[in-house]
Amino acid sequence: MSLPDRNNPYNFDAFLNWRQNVDYYRDDPFIQKVMRHFTGNEHDTIDAQARAVSAKTSFRWRDFSDSIARPEKRPFMLHYDGHHNRIDRIVRPHETEILEKEIFSEALFADKTSPWVKLIKMYLIYQNGEACISCPVTCTEGLVKLLEKYADTPETKQILQHCKEGMDGDFAIGAQYLSEIQGGSDVPANVLEAVCEEGVWRLYGTKFFCSATHADYAVVTAKPVGAEKVALFVVPSWLPGNKEKEIRNGYTIDRIKWKMGTSELTTAELTFNGAVAYPVGPLEKGVANVVGIVLTYSRLTVGLSAAAFMTRAVREAKKYAEFRNAFGLIIGQFPLVAVQLNKIDHIAKRTTAGAFKLYQDFLAQEEGLAKDEPEAASRKRFEIRELIMLQKMATAWDSTDVIREAMSIFGGHGVMEDFSSLPRLYRDSAINELWEGPRNVLLTQIHRDLQKASAWYAPAEFVRNILCGRDEANIDELAAEITELVAYANLFQMDEKTIDICRRWDAFCHKLFHAYQDLALREVEFVS
Ligand SMILES: Cc1cc2nc3c(=O)[nH]c(=O)nc-3n(C[C@H](O)[C@H](O)[C@H](O)COP(=O)(O)OP(=O)(O)OC[C@H]3O[C@@H](n4cnc5c(N)ncnc54)[C@H](O)[C@@H]3O)c2cc1C
Repeated sequence: MSLPDRNNPYNFDAFLNWRQNVDYYRDDPFIQKVMRHFTGNEHDTIDAQARAVSAKTSFRWRDFSDSIARPEKRPFMLHYDGHHNRIDRIVRPHETEILEKEIFSEALFADKTSPWVKLIKMYLIYQNGEACISCPVTCTEGLVKLLEKYADTPETKQILQHCKEGMDGDFAIGAQYLSEIQGGSDVPANVLEAVCEEGVWRLYGTKFFCSATHADYAVVTAKPVGAEKVALFVVPSWLPGNKEKEIRNGYTIDRIKWKMGTSELTTAELTFNGAVAYPVGPLEKGVANVVGIVLTYSRLTVGLSAAAFMTRAVREAKKYAEFRNAFGLIIGQFPLVAVQLNKIDHIAKRTTAGAFKLYQDFLAQEEGLAKDEPEAASRKRFEIRELIMLQKMATAWDSTDVIREAMSIFGGHGVMEDFSSLPRLYRDSAINELWEGPRNVLLTQIHRDLQKASAWYAPAEFVRNILCGRDEANIDELAAEITELVAYANLFQMDEKTIDICRRWDAFCHKLFHAYQDLALREVEFVS
């Protein structure tokens, strides 16, 4: 029963108090268990570093991320200075610059940082959403990995040093510009032109989706004049000595896009008019290198950030369900609410366990041989390549669903941008579905890869190997289904049979990756 009260005393203090003080790592026994399981005898060092970074990301960096998300703090362009010089300055809040400086100073890709330390730091940092950080961090990683393999000139070696180890305490930021106005998925159809003029490569033409536009260097795909194959270049945003003068390297930032998510980060349209570009790797191997190296890292990051976004959203929804009352009951005590919370909690946990398990395999492969390897190693390499695409496709999709369900636990407050960070994570998550390969592009690629590999690696065997340890009946069922689906010639005919195969392929791939994640979760829960 409730009586009128003109001084309604209701407040959210208890919930807010908890939220203000929650530490993403210290207060999360599950992620600690995941780390114990996957990091072996390195655990104690990694755990200490995770605690240290969590003390920053759960409080100071969280507050910066929330603050810069306000619409009045959106970045904007200053195309000219007061003396009619074209500068194309991206104006960002000072808080963004501090946040960026502090996070990049963690030296995530430096030799002194172990891969597991990097991974757990990224996972904890990503709980704050994009925040003009996640995309540049992953682009920088892709650039570092590319240059570790191919830097062979003074310029590219210096760029590698700047991004990886820092120079005079300044850690450079990377970006990647592949997508053009006519298409982002179809990179081989790029038309940006590269011309070698007096021994220097220069770029001419346009790129249409250029995120992290404030970066120091970008990986850019372009076609050498007269060639049909795309090559890969690294383009400095400013040539040496010109950053301070704000003279960009032969390109203009035409406009920044107005987008629904990742709004703290600019995504711009660029015109290149003679930008100096350094080729990386063999010119004819541009697509292979950008997909095999650069996109591999950014797709892994999407999986990890999906896990991080979901973990944050579910944690806050669970706590709110312990705090809020309706009809005289704590809302978490309504069985319907409990069912919803259990479901999203499970998805968040399996996504996290899956991301760490896949990273473990990826690391083992990264350190191994690539050439003349035995067949078992080639199979493992193939499994990891496909799992990375499956993970990107499934987790980006699940993340948006999970965050939406978490928001619904908050009722009307769930969609209020100044009540919690969940609406921002939701908008960022929708972007994760699209960049680094939209769902259907990945599903098509996985189908094609499995078909091509089937002469030396039967799809049923692939399923058996990636799900080794699961219930045999379940494996048999999935193995039979993949055999039938992959045997279907291609996914490009507009007829009833193909439409049905495509519907089943979409559902199957999602189910297959969930089976992998559940296996990872079982390992964490029961083997540790
Ligand atoms: C916020 C944001 C920031 C971005 N930042 C960058 C960036 O920094 N650098 C960069 O290079 N790109 C960036 N992108 C571009 C992004 O990578 C592309 O949007 C993406 O690759 C898809 O390209 P598209 O938009 O041209 O879609 P399209 O290629 O036109 O695809 C449209 C639809 O067709 C489907 N489709 C296409 N081909 C196939 C196929 N073979 N089989 C089945 N279905 C298919 C796709 O799944 C999609 O649903 C960004 C995108 C967004 C949204």
